[in-house]
Amino acid sequence: MRAFDAGKYNSARMSILKVARMGHPVLRARAQALDRTRIKSPGTQKLIDDMFETMAEYHGVGLAAPQVHEGLRLFVATLDSERGDDDGEHVALINPEIVPVGADMVDDWEGCLSIPDIRGRVPRHYEIRVRAFDRHAERIELTAKGFPARVIQHETDHLDGILFFDRMRSLDTLTFLDEYSRYWVKSDED
Ligand SMILES: [Zn+2]
Repeated sequence: MRAFDAGKYNSARMSILKVARMGHPVLRARAQALDRTRIKSPGTQKLIDDMFETMAEYHGVGLAAPQVHEGLRLFVATLDSERGDDDGEHVALINPEIVPVGADMVDDWEGCLSIPDIRGRVPRHYEIRVRAFDRHAERIELTAKGFPARVIQHETDHLDGILFFDRMRSLDTLTFLDEYSRYWVKSDED
């Protein structure tokens, strides 16, 4: 898997995009696949750069194209086993297809830039295999487990109009960020 090409990172040409919030129909639509020509097009390359910039601006670990009003099967993410670590690997995955590895499911906290200041516990496959194109329209395959696997599942759900609320076993853990910090963050043993 290629790391984000820092040599192409030109902040003067990048834009911070407006993030769609829950309720906008684009978040509930199925996004469209990109062919290799479209992946390589300047418009898509600029979109990817802008999505990285937007994700960094809002301290996200993942951002899917529908969240910036583009109905395309594309997301950017920072994949690292240590959550919140800015030094993780930056990837753009296009037309991703996920296959679970094994049957293990794990519950953990998730948030979403389209659902600001809310957290909830969501079950996800512990380990997955992903096939996709990278931003150079090369086929890639990777496996991920734990938090990076969770990020990939969350972002791929966005491409099918699915939000993390839809995946929760119950809404009992739904919490605002302040209350999450106050009541939940220290009892995060499962
Ligand atoms: Zn999200």
